[in-house]
Amino acid sequence: MRTGPRAGGRICCVAELTTTGPIVIIGSGMAGGNAAATLREEGFPGPVVLISKEPGVPFGRPPLSKTYLRSEENLEGWYVRPAGWYADHDVELRSGPAVTAVDPAAHTVTLDSGEKLGYAKILIATGGRNMGFIGCEVAASLTQLGVQVTTVFPGRAPLERVLGGQVGELIGASHRAKGVELRPGDQVTAFEGTERVEAFVTATGDRFPCDFAVAGIGIEPDIPDAGVAQENGILTDELCRASAPDVYAAGDVANQLHPLFGRVRVEHYNNAEKHGRAAARSMLGSTAPYDYLYTFWSDQYEHKIEYVGHVTSWDDFVFRGSVAEAKLIGFYLVDGVVRAAVGLDRGGDPELDLDGEMAACARLVSARARPAPAVLADDRTDLWSLS
Ligand SMILES: Cc1cc2nc3c(=O)[nH]c(=O)nc-3n(C[C@H](O)[C@H](O)[C@H](O)COP(=O)(O)OP(=O)(O)OC[C@H]3O[C@@H](n4cnc5c(N)ncnc54)[C@H](O)[C@@H]3O)c2cc1C
Repeated sequence: MRTGPRAGGRICCVAELTTTGPIVIIGSGMAGGNAAATLREEGFPGPVVLISKEPGVPFGRPPLSKTYLRSEENLEGWYVRPAGWYADHDVELRSGPAVTAVDPAAHTVTLDSGEKLGYAKILIATGGRNMGFIGCEVAASLTQLGVQVTTVFPGRAPLERVLGGQVGELIGASHRAKGVELRPGDQVTAFEGTERVEAFVTATGDRFPCDFAVAGIGIEPDIPDAGVAQENGILTDELCRASAPDVYAAGDVANQLHPLFGRVRVEHYNNAEKHGRAAARSMLGSTAPYDYLYTFWSDQYEHKIEYVGHVTSWDDFVFRGSVAEAKLIGFYLVDGVVRAAVGLDRGGDPELDLDGEMAACARLVSARARPAPAVLADDRTDLWSLS
């Protein structure tokens, strides 16, 4: 299972939380589950209520498009805490009800049953609907299961918007090599069928018979009516605080103010884990800003993509390694500064392989390093020497 170093953070004192009522967490995904665990680990003795409309205990979703989908593993290894942990640690896990509204003035939440609960502090960790990299991952997993897959996407290459054209082309080539039919620059405009989907039609007018369809089209933050400022998610400051008192947000739903990257909303497992933990510490009085250097990964066939940093547009992309072998490290530069890096079957996990090249890239990003592009591209230069 993927874990990373715990986000640092100074805890002022648990006693600072003096208001009465429980800490309520809405959403029992990675962010919500880790927040509950962190509250207890940091010694918060008061009531904690974890509410989620989803059944079961908090777990990580990455295997849903990979190993679990291919029946290669169950989800237990991805539980945030073992199923019995919540009762053992006096965390009230309320699975089933959806929160329909948060009233920051009254410090109450309303459930879809009409029940109202009071809170001292509340964390909104409601994630989002649907997801991005999933299209490629599910295409890979289904192909591995022997399904004939057709993938439709805008742009010239899969994941071009996130990783750029050159890396996207390499990912596209790996799918083609496995037999996936790629339809770049197109989009699905209609599904056809009576009892079930039988075909899809694209903007070019082509019609493709199909047995089922998977939409992996990005997420939309799932925000309950909470009376807090929003723009592409719930706007939070560096301490995970939303615009209303005692309301916090973390994970995919939060558009956070990051000390290095500015306003960012990311949709990744590693961030949700660390962000939930940071929000819990902030609720307990920590004044340490949430400055986690984002990383994420994706598995497709035998290939591994690792990414560190954050960038939505860049003015230069350079790489070291081999395009022919599709083994490389790519650097995304803005005004000469390394803002992000991607490792395609090279460089290791930036959080786990601490001597690896992707870990060196993490250091370059956090140092706002400005190495000459030619030096970055030159395999003879040790990346660790550049920051
Ligand atoms: C199939 C799949 C594969 C993925 N693979 C990867 C990967 O390889 N690498 C990676 O970095 N990331 C991956 N991700 C993304 C990662 O899982 C998410 O970034 C992470 O789950 C976000 O955690 P979260 O806690 O913010 O939200 P979520 O995990 O979405 O949890 C939100 C919870 O809130 C609940 N909720 C929503 N609204 C309400 C409400 N009104 N009332 C009560 N409960 C509510 C939901 O039911 C849910 O339980 C994947 C995601 C999916 C779906």
